[in-house]
Amino acid sequence: MIRANDNFNRLPEAYLFSEVASRIRQYKEQHPGLELIKMDIGDIKRPLFPCVTEAMRRAVDDLSRAESFYGYGPEQGYAFLREAIEEHDYHKRGIDIGSSEIFVSDGAKSDLGNLGDILDPASSVGICNPTYPAYLDDSVINGMAGKPQAGGYSNVIDIECRPEDGFIPALPAEVPDVIYLCFPNNPTGVGIDRDRLAEWVEYAHTHGALIVYDAAYQAYVREEGVVRSIYEIPGADEVAIEVNSFSKTAGFTGVRCGYTVVPRRLTGRFSSGRTVSLNTLWNRRQSTKFNGASYVSQRGAEAVYSPEGRANVKEATDAYLENAAIVKEALAGKNIPVYGGVNSPYVWARMGENSWDVFDFLLREAQVSVTPGIGFGTKGEGYVRFTGFNTRGNTLKAMERILQKL
Ligand SMILES: *Cc1c(COP(=O)(O)O)cnc(C)c1O
Repeated sequence: MIRANDNFNRLPEAYLFSEVASRIRQYKEQHPGLELIKMDIGDIKRPLFPCVTEAMRRAVDDLSRAESFYGYGPEQGYAFLREAIEEHDYHKRGIDIGSSEIFVSDGAKSDLGNLGDILDPASSVGICNPTYPAYLDDSVINGMAGKPQAGGYSNVIDIECRPEDGFIPALPAEVPDVIYLCFPNNPTGVGIDRDRLAEWVEYAHTHGALIVYDAAYQAYVREEGVVRSIYEIPGADEVAIEVNSFSKTAGFTGVRCGYTVVPRRLTGRFSSGRTVSLNTLWNRRQSTKFNGASYVSQRGAEAVYSPEGRANVKEATDAYLENAAIVKEALAGKNIPVYGGVNSPYVWARMGENSWDVFDFLLREAQVSVTPGIGFGTKGEGYVRFTGFNTRGNTLKAMERILQKL
């Protein structure tokens, strides 16, 4: 008998993005002459940096000659990239993370899903509400979420993020074994201060919990005191895994490259009581199930850390942040409660009681598409997410249209 994984039957209905696409398609068919401005999708608009495409072109040339050909690379990633990450993302910021703790991958989404391999499937999980949907879906597929029940899952602790707290989650009374945190956050766009994250690190220490920290938007942090890496917090290397990506930093959404940090000092415990290094387990997992990210994409990622690449990151993220600021200012001018957009390309806006009604209103009245907040959790109801991933011209035009209708 071919026995399918029952956990797939337990997934929440993933209708959000297909429903957004289908409503947009329908609207376009009915109004063929109207120009739609897309502010829904979390994808980069600007092309790859010239230094990145040049590095990738050179990498392809390497592969085309016998004397410089590379076959299978190290499962952990090439030293040239791991050392560049260590230097620029950690050492230069005064953080003591070494290249043996850094594992290069084909992106953050894969790593987030794969981390379940090194954890006990009986672990309980703490998931923020609202948040990026992959944390819950991954936990359902790997069995950690447990069974669906009224209002959630048997093994999931819902961590509410409330507007009165600026969407920074409060420490849950019921302690999860694994906690997913993402800052700057998708979808709310808020970053977290060092003091607030230090409370989470202390909580994890006190209760023996693991924090899986998604830092995909760290390149957008501008404010002093807002965290880029959880390892800025002393002792975080004993309780946290950090997942990172070149997607939102350098437009690698199609190229595919990211990395995950599993510190040497981070340990877990087997049911036998024996303590084990999670770095050792992750290394074993990667060596068994992964053969490394492509040489070409790793050479491209290395170029992101060149002087030119770093200037390009600043320039591109600045441009997206400017767009987010335009959105935020326009909505705030109409007394709409708005969050994010300062250390993040996302603006989270409370524009009604029902996210889908707001979505339909903006599409119909302003020909602007956004993402309904309800797609990120029940506590996203009434909100929509705008992205700054657009041109400045289109962002200005979209907000002009929306302001006329409010
Ligand atoms: C886009 C995004 C990712 C996915 O990154 P990839 O490296 O492209 O897989 C992960 N986490 C969050 C919060 C994201 O928004």
